[in-house]
Amino acid sequence: MPSHDSVKCQCCGKMMVPKTIFSRGFYGGWGWWLGGGRPVSSCCPFCLSERWDGSSPDVREAVWYQALGVVLAFLFTFMVLVALIFGIGLFDAVFGVRSSWLPDLIALVCAIYAGRSFYKWFTHIPAQR
Ligand SMILES: [Zn+2]
Repeated sequence: MPSHDSVKCQCCGKMMVPKTIFSRGFYGGWGWWLGGGRPVSSCCPFCLSERWDGSSPDVREAVWYQALGVVLAFLFTFMVLVALIFGIGLFDAVFGVRSSWLPDLIALVCAIYAGRSFYKWFTHIPAQR
């Protein structure tokens, strides 16, 4: 006899019993958790989706949110690049070193990496336990 708790996941289509997600709280040391432990949501044990019942998607999966992430990542990249180029210019001015294209290229790579990291952080959906 199949369990009456078993439902069909709307994301992966499997029959499953939703797994409860507990809030994490603060780690107090020696294995003690302060607060948390409350059931906050439930997810499918197969695809770990909280939308197993076909409810509305997470804001971080929305197109506008990811578009916002791209815009902010570009702004962040630009800010880091300006700061680094300014730093290189200041270094050159103080020490009288004629800068080659290499520090600027490194600055550009760092800025793009920073922007990419920012986008990943911004749109990252935390893994469920
Ligand atoms: Zn699923």
